[in-house]
Amino acid sequence: MSQRPRIYLDHAATTPILPAAKAAMLEAMERWANPSSPHAEGRAARAALEDARERIKRALGWDGELIFTSGATEAIEIVLRGAGAYETTVSAVEHDAVLRNVEGPQRIRVGLDGLLDMGDLRCWLDPNEATDLIAVQAANNETGVLQAIEAVAAEKDAEWVGKPVALLVDCAQTAGKRPLPEADAVSISAHKLGGPPGVGALLVKDFTRLKAQGGQERGYRGGTQNLPGIMGFAAAIEGQNDWMDQALALRTRLEERLRHAGAQVVAEESPRIPTIGAYRMPGVPSEAQLIHFDLAGIAVSAGSACSSGSMKASHVLAAMGWLEREAREVVRVSFGPQTTEQEVDAFARAWEELAERMRAS
Ligand code: PLP
Repeated sequence: MSQRPRIYLDHAATTPILPAAKAAMLEAMERWANPSSPHAEGRAARAALEDARERIKRALGWDGELIFTSGATEAIEIVLRGAGAYETTVSAVEHDAVLRNVEGPQRIRVGLDGLLDMGDLRCWLDPNEATDLIAVQAANNETGVLQAIEAVAAEKDAEWVGKPVALLVDCAQTAGKRPLPEADAVSISAHKLGGPPGVGALLVKDFTRLKAQGGQERGYRGGTQNLPGIMGFAAAIEGQNDWMDQALALRTRLEERLRHAGAQVVAEESPRIPTIGAYRMPGVPSEAQLIHFDLAGIAVSAGSACSSGSMKASHVLAAMGWLEREAREVVRVSFGPQTTEQEVDAFARAWEELAERMRAS
């Protein structure tokens, strides 16, 4: 009996590794030594590492420094934990990787549309406030909402602020898909763009704002570099094509159908990255939806992957003013460059079936 192929619509959690990235990793596993070793093998590994660093910077159009990390989480932690002088203010919809490193009330509110409340941002930038670092994500991993990073940068650099304020932008969901923003620091994970998990980068304009802690990566990160991962990362970032129009066409097709079947589209009117959509099925808990879709052969997620492990209510939707009950009825769908119309239609069909069944019960 032939098995129906599974449909993977959870690319915002992690992406399949691109063939070019896999090949680069396999090659690296055959050949590489520790890049910190002084012998010829180590020097060859170092040369490959530095070459990968330059290739990734070039592909991203980043003219600052690049520190290899284990992913966006570690990149964020290097900035938020490693730079003790910072008084950090973050948006209320940041990923947990940011929020868990910033205690206290310094949360910039968002509106019902998921976009930063610029008035509240200005309050945190008031010269009487201690804020000297702002962390704002480029795109939200649960809703896809794109923040206006240029406007945030202009606010924090306004003359009335009267002090330098650094900007950390978490680009885990946009790197390789959209140009990087102008920022002092940027966090990236390779596994969100066709590279392997467990590798990523912190991009910084100026090292002097970070605390050197010894070890590798010019003293800003300890631990032997994951060279096969880094080679896979470089190959993946170089293999990016612009598929955002294709993703937008798929998402538009899906949303027309879901809306018609009674779905509430999260942040419908907001600028959103085309690769992510979040949908509420009124009256049906997301756990029940996930089981239904999984049985239908479709992988999607409820909110972020990390949140869905424990099924806690989404802090993102709460910040956008959603009731907890409603937030618990939302499922996230996310596309990759390989996603097809047939797959999206199959998801829409499974969604309609469940909604119909629940209405009838
Ligand atoms: N930031 C955002 C917006 C994310 O979506 C994720 C992962 O889901 C992270 C940070 C953390 O990335 P990683 O788990 O690869 O460190």
